[in-house]
Amino acid sequence: MSKEYAEKLGLLPQECACDKCKLMCHAPCCGSVEDFEKIVDAGFADRLMFDDLPSEPDGGDILKPALKGYEGGRAPWAVSALRGCTFWNKEGKCDLHDLGLKPIQGKLAIHEKQTALDDDCTLADIMKPDWESERGKALIEKWKKLVNYDSRSKHVVIDDWTPYPGG
Ligand code: SF4
Repeated sequence: MSKEYAEKLGLLPQECACDKCKLMCHAPCCGSVEDFEKIVDAGFADRLMFDDLPSEPDGGDILKPALKGYEGGRAPWAVSALRGCTFWNKEGKCDLHDLGLKPIQGKLAIHEKQTALDDDCTLADIMKPDWESERGKALIEKWKKLVNYDSRSKHVVIDDWTPYPGG
């Protein structure tokens, strides 16, 4: 399914560790249901958070890597902060990269503007049927049980908001 995302967006996986690329991890990336099944199976359920589809005003549930401080909880309204993604390590790299578990948005992203990826609506259009499938809903329910999810449980003070990368 992640391959289908890349094909639909017309993009190829990228590898770049420039400063601009590293800063993209201020905002956790999105991915397919398959991506997150693998992350959960690898034992990282408690590093994820519950969020809405990007640019979907009517909602739509997804899992994504947590903003630091929001592991196992509900994402804050805005998810770009200096503290960054829970998998963003001290070297400014992704702990999921070498494990082959990086979500597809992170795999495809690079410092240059990529309209297909920068337009959240395009990505959301692809993600919506995936995450609204029985498989997607089942994964979210499984995750909620694994982390004993309570949408009211996180009251984290974030004082390091940043503009959305590229925004
Ligand atoms: S999962 Fe990895 S690539 Fe995606 S935002 Fe987090 S650190 Fe960056």
